[in-house]
Amino acid sequence: MRPNSLHAADIAHMVHQQTDLDAHGRDGAILITRGEGCRVYDTEGKDYIEGMAALWCASLGFSEKRLADAAYRQMLELPYYHTFSGMGHAPSVRLAEKLAEIAPPGLNHVLFQSSGSESNDAAIKIIWYFNNLIGRPHKKKLIGRLRGYHGNTVAAASLSGQPLMHLDFDLPLSDRFLHISNPNYYREHTPGETEDAFSARMAAELEQLIEREGPETIAAFFAEPVQGGGGALTPPRGYFQAIQAVLKKHDILFVADEVICGFGRTGNRWGSETYGIQPDMLSCAKQLTASYQPLSALLISDRIHAALIEGSRKNGRFGHGFTYGGHPVACAVALETLAIYEERDILGHVRAVSPVFLEGLEALREHPLVGDVRGVGLIAGVELMADKAARTPFPVSAKVGQRVQDACIAAGLIIRAIGDRMAFTPPLIITAAEVQEMLLRFRRALDDVWAEVQAEPPL
Ligand code: PMP
Repeated sequence: MRPNSLHAADIAHMVHQQTDLDAHGRDGAILITRGEGCRVYDTEGKDYIEGMAALWCASLGFSEKRLADAAYRQMLELPYYHTFSGMGHAPSVRLAEKLAEIAPPGLNHVLFQSSGSESNDAAIKIIWYFNNLIGRPHKKKLIGRLRGYHGNTVAAASLSGQPLMHLDFDLPLSDRFLHISNPNYYREHTPGETEDAFSARMAAELEQLIEREGPETIAAFFAEPVQGGGGALTPPRGYFQAIQAVLKKHDILFVADEVICGFGRTGNRWGSETYGIQPDMLSCAKQLTASYQPLSALLISDRIHAALIEGSRKNGRFGHGFTYGGHPVACAVALETLAIYEERDILGHVRAVSPVFLEGLEALREHPLVGDVRGVGLIAGVELMADKAARTPFPVSAKVGQRVQDACIAAGLIIRAIGDRMAFTPPLIITAAEVQEMLLRFRRALDDVWAEVQAEPPL
């Protein structure tokens, strides 16, 4: 059989993830062939600035040879081994030691998996296991947030608050998964309500839910310090302080989902540091290996870890594990990634470039399509509005976010439309000059869509 052209074979055989498969059948996909620094190139040779670091993850861009070398060296030495039945290997041990050294206080134990979803899934299982072992078998419910994103396994998708991940998938899995409001201050605040008052209202809503369900049934709260898939949305002032006070009062665990924020995205090593979060467990992935290999790490507190040991005394062993969890090649790449972050002072770089990025986006508030801009470090969301003064959004059917995303692609910029919120998370190595170019391309796209919108009949 003669192979089809690449694009025809893609339409014939590939099931794309998180994609409009009907449109893909007609339009095909943009296929990326190579990368260089913060840019990627498609099959036609067109260049794009990767304003999303692909999936919020390619922190060191697309051509870091040291990571390829680290993988190659490890493949020659020990291409695979596992961590089941008391066996192990040096790269995972060294990486666990390093993560414990740089983790938020008290998180000294590390469970490796291959993805953010698996890490959050493991956190959910461990929370249930923990509460069974310490004699609280009824404390099992988990609280996430509407539009929160924690992954795609059945449990992590149940915890996520994304309607399309539930609709027709028969999720959430059970009534153990609860959700509170999305803290989008710009969209949801009432007239005159300050950010602090809005945060207090969000915390009061959490407490009402806990009291309605019974605090003795609520095990944990999961949150991304900065919401990614929910819109690159930074929390309103005072939010996590108010939320944590409620959780502490009712002895509810806090799991920080730092799959996007971890390793410098917010200008500190952890988003938890940026927002004063004291997590009982922390999930990280993506930037852990700069995404050159799939790897996640669940950082676990001493208290929870002690219960896992107790569980082995009772049950014989910790009955959880994945074949590829803590893969040695991925761990070797992670160690090299963390070494590069330190040697090149990537945190210092993020702090230096962040003002160029955030102030450049701020300047776009003048644009007739832009209602709000919020960001921190190198993550930001730009909210598009039909009427800025009245805070009136465009109707969903106008697909304005999607149109701006398409116009960005045409202008050579990859960013993500989340509804009508445009998300930016460029590689952490982006330079000030590249930021300026990215913003120029974005403005061109906004102008093009604004010209179209003006030419259309009024809403
Ligand atoms: N948590 C967050 C905050 C994420 O952004 C993601 C992925 N975007 C996940 C979990 C899931 O990670 P993965 O796709 O590696 O399973």
